[in-house]
Amino acid sequence: MNLSTPISELNRVGKTTSKRWKSLGIRNVRDLLFYFPFRYEDYRRVVEISQLRDGDMVTVCGQVELIANKRSFKTRKVITEALISDKSGSLRVVWFNQPFIVKNIKTGDMVYLSGKVKSDMLGAQLIGPAYEKYPGTRAAGAAQYGAGKKEDTVHTARLVPIYPLTYGLTQKQIRFLINQVIVLADKMVEWVPKDILEKFDLAPLGGALRGIHFPQDENELKISTDRLKFDEIFLTQMKAELSKKERGSLQAPSIIFKEEEIKNFVASLPFILTKTQKIAAWEILQDISKSTPMNRLVSGDVGSGKTVVAAIALYSVFLNGGQGVIMAPTEILAQQHFYSLTKLFNNAKLKLALLTGSLKKKEKDIIIGSIKNGEIDIAVGTHALLTEGVKFKNLNLVVVDEQHRFGVEQRKLIKEKSSAKHLGKSAHFLSMTATPIPRSLALMIYGDLDVSIINELPPGRKKIITRLVEPFNREKAYQFIREQVQKGRQIFVICPAIEDASDDVAGSTLPVVGSAEKKSVMSEYEKLSKITFPDLRVGYLHGKLKPDEKKETMSKFKEGRIDLLVSTSVVEVGVDIPNASIMMIEGAENFGLAQLHQFRGRVGRSTHQSYCLLFTGTFSHKSLERLKFFEQNSDGFKLAEKDLEMRGPGEVYGTEQSGDMNLRLAKLTDQELVKKCREAAKTVVNDLKKYSAVLTKVRDWENQTHFE
Ligand code: ADP
Ligand code: MG
Repeated sequence: MNLSTPISELNRVGKTTSKRWKSLGIRNVRDLLFYFPFRYEDYRRVVEISQLRDGDMVTVCGQVELIANKRSFKTRKVITEALISDKSGSLRVVWFNQPFIVKNIKTGDMVYLSGKVKSDMLGAQLIGPAYEKYPGTRAAGAAQYGAGKKEDTVHTARLVPIYPLTYGLTQKQIRFLINQVIVLADKMVEWVPKDILEKFDLAPLGGALRGIHFPQDENELKISTDRLKFDEIFLTQMKAELSKKERGSLQAPSIIFKEEEIKNFVASLPFILTKTQKIAAWEILQDISKSTPMNRLVSGDVGSGKTVVAAIALYSVFLNGGQGVIMAPTEILAQQHFYSLTKLFNNAKLKLALLTGSLKKKEKDIIIGSIKNGEIDIAVGTHALLTEGVKFKNLNLVVVDEQHRFGVEQRKLIKEKSSAKHLGKSAHFLSMTATPIPRSLALMIYGDLDVSIINELPPGRKKIITRLVEPFNREKAYQFIREQVQKGRQIFVICPAIEDASDDVAGSTLPVVGSAEKKSVMSEYEKLSKITFPDLRVGYLHGKLKPDEKKETMSKFKEGRIDLLVSTSVVEVGVDIPNASIMMIEGAENFGLAQLHQFRGRVGRSTHQSYCLLFTGTFSHKSLERLKFFEQNSDGFKLAEKDLEMRGPGEVYGTEQSGDMNLRLAKLTDQELVKKCREAAKTVVNDLKKYSAVLTKVRDWENQTHFE
């Protein structure tokens, strides 16, 4: 037996169970060793029978006096009854529906029994305890634990590991398997260099694996967990440091900071930049003035004004005679960027073009031609900018808005294209996200990115009033909507689905568990336009409409020719309708907090007092807690943290960034650990010759985790 031995070759693994193990990702011995418990039952206290007290979690050690099955009179179920005694007394034990127990333990056997004591008139009793014969069910090779000691047990009389399992597999089975292979833990290659182990006071890998499955005490458990957590984060940091280093070896055009022109441009804007906008712009201008490619993320709440920051960078590129491109994940957004940039560059003599997938072939060809010959300075569009065979004459800067909303393939393409060499050089790269992200976490997730954070809104914005509306107040809410429309305002109604009774989740990111039927755009549209507001102009929007139809509806809404727009989450990012004052969200429990925050950011974009009304069909405590939190908090960063806490980074920031990191134990939010690992990774990357074993491990890990 070795680390690669398939699980099916282990003792007592049949065909069916081997399939079940596979569904947990356990194929071989190595996988088993890395399948970690998620908690432990503390059965360390071994108590004499005469000392048992009602409610205690204990272990009893004694001899089986009697054991037999009988059938319950009423339910016809099998009950196993036993009498156990030690020198202090005897104890009744009962198991339900486990007739096979009489085959495992027999009269005269010495056993450990662990469970909760229940006392009644006849004395103490254990109901359905974990049981184990003794001495020693520990596999033969683990002799170092000493025979006959209580650490020898696997299921009782110790800190007992509890594993996340699926249907048809039991805790006893997995412990039995891990116990068989635990001796091989020491066969794992110690890939972390000795000096790093010492510097960060880390346990050896083999010991850590033994200690996480079968810890003798809390201390061993902690030391073991710490080591394994370190490994997880260390790998991610290694990857980040390596790609940083690689980037450092690439050449990019140095975009000279032309101070006077930039200052004039900023002065020409219809507003004054906020402090953090200025800082972000300055950081970017610094980065792109260097001759290595920039790789920077601007993270800023909805409405914090990221577009203008990107515009300053694009303008600087234009002043240097280069081309820039700005891409958005949806056509609506791309159009809007085009519109905003056209306004911002009103006085500048630069040429902008909009390229999206829905343009006619002829128009497309013209634009593609003038991008190629350098006539166009800044191209705005969707990923069509990359897929339609577009070539730039001198691409210096790639800006991507809401990168995480692009598909995996598209993101790959963006990366490839932007690092593709133009005149022997790579372009600078800037990405923007409105999913607010704490800085420490950003460093962790986007390890090789530099991050600028815009954490304030432009002055003068009114606070959006948010309410979770009780179902019986729905009519009142409609009345309020009517009043707002009469005042000239416009309304969004967001639904989680496009059509009724389909599986379509329409961009919702949460699985719907036990919630009411999801409201759909089409049925709400029917209801609102025919019954509730027959006198108002109601429109609808969703991702399955043709690009032309979407465009038409959006411009109608923008021009005020629609009062109330029923939509899916397609309006989520960036859509700018300053006259809209109510964001009504149906089935709010279907959306993550960050997403709800995006919706809310669609209103309150002018001086009108705005409102966000949430409706939910759920009674789930957790969902309601989330929505209440949302009602009371308007700080995007706080919401992101809460989301993170309640749903985990995979859900919040997309699995590509975090799920693939394959973190089982470590939390991205553990700042101390991240700091340590970052430091260790820097040490290693600075001397790769010395640490070649680490490099091998990182490459293996990258292959396994199919990182982008
Ligand atoms: P986001 O960060 O969500 O992309 P935008 O760039 O769309 O935000 O900006 C939101 C709105 O705020 C736009 O209408 C923009 O013109 C305006 N804006 C941006 N910066 C400022 C500022 N410093 N002062 C006032 N308004 C601003
Ligand atoms: Mg934006």
